[in-house]
Amino acid sequence: MPDVNDIIRELAGPLRVEGRTGYRDTTIIGSSIGDYARAWAGRAREAGLSEEQRARCGEISVLLADYRKMSAAARKPRVAQALRLLGEMGNGADVDRRGGQRSACPAQGDRTAGAQQCAPTGRTSRTRKAKEPDPPPSVETDLLDQPVPAGQGRSILTQRLAKLGIETNRELLYHFPREYVPLKNINDLVDGERAAVVARAITREQSVMKEGRGFALTRFALELSDDSGRAWVTSVMRIPRMGQRAAVLLNSPPALNHTPGTRLLVEGLVKRAGKFIDLQYGDVQRLLPEETFPVGQLAPVYPLTDGLYQSNLRGVVRRVLNQLPDALPDPLPQAMRERYRLTDLVTALRDIHWPLTEEAKQEATRRLALEELLTLQLAMAQRKRELQRPGSGISMKPRGDVVVALEEVLPFSLTRAQQRAIAEITADMASDQAMCRLIQGDVGSGKTVVAAGALMVALQNGYQGAVMAPTELLAEQHYLVLSHLLKHFGVTVELLTGSLKASEREQAYRRLASGRAQVAVGTQALIQEGVAFHRLGLVIVDEQHRFGVKQRAELRTKGQQPDMLVMTATPIPRTLALTVYGDLEVSILDEMPPGRTPVQTRWIPVQRQAEAYDFVRRQIAEGRQAYVVCPLVEESEHLQAEAAVKLAEELQKGEFSDLRVGLLHGAMKVAEKDAVMEAFRAGEADVLVATTVIEVGVDVTNAGVMLILNAERFGLAQLHQLRGRVGRGPFTSHCLLLTHQKYDPTGRIKLGGEEESREDARRRLKVLIEQSDGFVIAEEDLLLRGPGEFYGTRQHGLPDFRLARMVRDVKLVEEAREIAFWVTEQDPELRRPEHAVLRGRVEEVRARMDRIAG
Ligand code: ADP
Ligand code: MG
Repeated sequence: MPDVNDIIRELAGPLRVEGRTGYRDTTIIGSSIGDYARAWAGRAREAGLSEEQRARCGEISVLLADYRKMSAAARKPRVAQALRLLGEMGNGADVDRRGGQRSACPAQGDRTAGAQQCAPTGRTSRTRKAKEPDPPPSVETDLLDQPVPAGQGRSILTQRLAKLGIETNRELLYHFPREYVPLKNINDLVDGERAAVVARAITREQSVMKEGRGFALTRFALELSDDSGRAWVTSVMRIPRMGQRAAVLLNSPPALNHTPGTRLLVEGLVKRAGKFIDLQYGDVQRLLPEETFPVGQLAPVYPLTDGLYQSNLRGVVRRVLNQLPDALPDPLPQAMRERYRLTDLVTALRDIHWPLTEEAKQEATRRLALEELLTLQLAMAQRKRELQRPGSGISMKPRGDVVVALEEVLPFSLTRAQQRAIAEITADMASDQAMCRLIQGDVGSGKTVVAAGALMVALQNGYQGAVMAPTELLAEQHYLVLSHLLKHFGVTVELLTGSLKASEREQAYRRLASGRAQVAVGTQALIQEGVAFHRLGLVIVDEQHRFGVKQRAELRTKGQQPDMLVMTATPIPRTLALTVYGDLEVSILDEMPPGRTPVQTRWIPVQRQAEAYDFVRRQIAEGRQAYVVCPLVEESEHLQAEAAVKLAEELQKGEFSDLRVGLLHGAMKVAEKDAVMEAFRAGEADVLVATTVIEVGVDVTNAGVMLILNAERFGLAQLHQLRGRVGRGPFTSHCLLLTHQKYDPTGRIKLGGEEESREDARRRLKVLIEQSDGFVIAEEDLLLRGPGEFYGTRQHGLPDFRLARMVRDVKLVEEAREIAFWVTEQDPELRRPEHAVLRGRVEEVRARMDRIAG
C-alpha cells in the first residue's frame, strides 16, 4: 500500500513549483494543474486511504478543476488552500512511518522535505541565504560517499556505471552532462532541433521494415500527446528473431513499450513539417507522477557507455539529487564563495544536472569548473611561494647594460620583445628570490640571444651557467652560437653530451668543477652524477616541454638555489602556461626579428608528388636549398634512421639525380651530424633528407623549401616546428605537405565512412595551412588533443579536467589562479578548518607531482 506521504508529495511538489514560477500553469508540461489534480485524485482514491482522506482528495480536485481558466491572482489562493488540505491529510492519517518525517507535510514547509519532494525542480534550496553557515560534516556528507543507489534489478546498472568510473554518489553527481536539450511543448518543436517533451503515450506501432538473416529490421513508433499537440517518436532496431538478446532489446527503451496514458520524458531529433512532428529517438523515460518539469528547463545529456541509456543515468541522478539536503559541507569555504560570487555546492550540483535556465547552468558550470581548477592552482601557488621565498636565491646585479653589450658583438640589434625579456630577467636575477621564469616565443623569435643575456649577468657576478637542451643536435647548435658569442667576453663554454669520449668528458668535468669553464651546454648528460660545478648560479632549460619537472629540478640541485630560466620554442596556450607552468613567471617574445617572410604552405596529394619534386628542383635552380622530411616512424629510432637512409638513396638515384642530396638522422654520430649540417650550411648540399632531428634549433637561412612526406603522421606542433626551419631569409619560403588524398584538408574530396583519426589529420593540416601564428596553432593543438595529451602534460602530474575545457576557459584559469593566490596569501598551508577539503586535494596533487619529479 502506498504511503500517504507519497501520495501527498505527488501533488504538493508540483503545487510548490507552481507557486515559485508565478502560477502560470506551466509546471505540468503538456497539461494543466487541474487535469493533473483530477488524475491524481483518481489514483489516490484507489490507494486504500481512509474515507476522510478520500474526501479530501476529491475536495482538492474540485478546488483546482478550473485552474487553466483562472487568472494567476485567482490561482494563488487555490494553491495555498490545496496545500493546506494536503497538510491536513498528512496529519490526519496514521503517518510518520518515514521515521517521523512529518515535514513531508507540505504546509509545514520544512526545506529538506521540500527539496526531497520536488527536487530537482524543487528549488527551495536555491534561495538559501548566503549568510547561513555551512553545516558541519555529518551523516549527510556521507550521502555523497555512499554507493550509487542500487535497488532490485539494478546490479546491471551499477556495473555499467562502474565502467564509467562511477561507484559513489559523488562520482555520479560529478559525472557532468556533456550537453543539454531544452524541454518544450510539442507544438513549439522546431524542425531540426534536439529537444525533449513531457507527454503521454497514446498508441504504439511496430512494423518490420526488412527481413535479414536471423534479424528483422524493426521500426517502433509511439504516438504522444501533450496539451499543445501530438507527435510521434520513432526508433529503428535490428532485432534478432529469438534468444535472450531479442528479449532484452524488445524491453529496452528504444522499443517504446509504454501503455497508453503513461507520462514520458521523450528526447530526440525533431523532424517537422507543419503539423506532422516526428521525434527521432534519443531517449524515452517513464516519469514518476510527482516528477515535474517546467517548460524551458534543460535536460542533461550524459556521456554514456555500452548498454547504458540516458534514461538510466537521468533516473539515478535525479534519485540522488532528490535526496540531497539543503546544504552540504562545501569544499569552497563561504568567505571565498561570497568574495568570488560562487554558487554553493548543492545548488551547483542541482543546476549542473537540471538547470532551470541557461544562466543557472552557467553559474553551476563556473563554480564546479573553478573548484576543479583550484586544486592545481593552489598546488602551483604553494610551490611558487616555497621556491621564491625571500632570501631563497642569489642576488646577481648586472654590470652595465646587458643589451648594449650584446649588440656590440651581434650583427643585429635586439627586438623590443628581446629587450623586454632581458629586462625582466635581469630584474629577477638581481633580487634575492630565486628566479623561476619561462620564456615563451615562437620558432625563430630569438630566444638564444635572451639566454645569452642571462648568462652574461651570471658570469659578471662570478657564477657559472648551465644550458640543457633535449637533443644532441640542439645542444650542439646552442654550443656553437653561445661559445661564439661569449668568447668576446673571454668565456669558456663546455659541450656535454652522451657521445663524448670518456677522456673528453673527464676533462670537461674537471674544468667545470674547478670553475675554469664558466658555461656548460648539453643534453641530459648535464644531470649525470659526475657533473659538478664550482659555483652554479643560473640554469637554463630549453624546449622545456620535452623534459619532465624532474630533470628541471635535478639540474637545479647542481647549484645552491640557482636562478632558473625555462625556454620553450613551442608557444603554449596561455591557459596551459598558467597551469603547467603555474609556478613560473612568464616572458613572451611576441615579435619576430625583422626580415622574416611568411612561409607559404600547401597540400599536395601523393598522386601528384612529381609536382612537389619539380617545385623543389625549381627552387634549387633559383639558389635555394630544401629539406625533405621522411615519414615518421614512431616506434623505433632505428627504423626511422633506416627509412631516412633509404629515402635519401632513392631520391639521389631518381628524382634528384642531378642534385646533391645530404642525409641527417638521429642514429648518426655527433661528428657526422656536425659535418652534414656544416656542409648544408655551406651550400655543399642542395637537399637535406632528414628525420625529425631537424625539428628544433636547426638554422640555415638559405633553406627555402620544407617538404614533409606523410604529413598526416605528424602532430600539429611538430609540423609547425618543422615549418619553422624555413622562412629565415629575405625570400618567400614554402612548406609542402604530402599525403594520401584521403587526408585532403581542403574538403574537396569526400569519402564515406570517416574515421576519427583521419578527420583529425585533416584538421591538423588545415590549421597549418591557414595559420602561421604559433599561439593559435598551439591552441588548436590543445583542442585537438585535449590537455592530457598536450606536450606530455601527463608527466607534469596534471589531473584530467572534466569541466574546464582549458583553451576556452582562459578567464576561468586566471580566476582560479587569482583565488589560489588569495587563499595562499592568508593560509599558505591550508591549515584552517574551512580549507580542510582543499588541503587534502592539494596534497594529493603535490604528492603526484613530486612522485613524478622524484
Ligand atoms: P629560437 O627562438 O627559435 O630559439 P633563435 O634564437 O635560434 O630562435 O634565433 C633564430 C635566428 O634569428 C638566429 O639565426 C638568430 O641569430 C636570429 N636572430 C635572433 N634575434 C635576432 C634579431 N633581433 N634580429 C635579427 N636576427 C635575430
Ligand atoms: Mg632555440
